[in-house]
Amino acid sequence: MLHPALDDAFDELLTRWRVHHDLRRSPATPVPRLARSRIDLDRARTTVHRLRVALHPYGNDLGLIGKVVLCQRLDEVVHIPKLELTRLGGSESFECICGDRVEQAISPRTRRATA
Ligand SMILES: [Zn+2]
Repeated sequence: MLHPALDDAFDELLTRWRVHHDLRRSPATPVPRLARSRIDLDRARTTVHRLRVALHPYGNDLGLIGKVVLCQRLDEVVHIPKLELTRLGGSESFECICGDRVEQAISPRTRRATA
């Protein structure tokens, strides 16, 4: 079973994919409508991808995970990829998959490990 947030995101992706597929098949679809549908589809795909990597981090073996946090909103442990971590001075920030922007001080232990 998937996490409910990933379940919802996957349903949204399937819906967007179906809508886009139907619009593409109709020659009467205006190009701007098709373009908007494409953007919605890409956004839904990105959301599913980010949730999947965060909740089921196969990339951890490759050292791709930069931080593991407990997201209060999703009530779930999420894995933040290194590429999405921004470290500046003594603090770091990232966008959680729930949409929250998180900024926090880097602990001395972490700072030593990354120096
Ligand atoms: Zn969160």
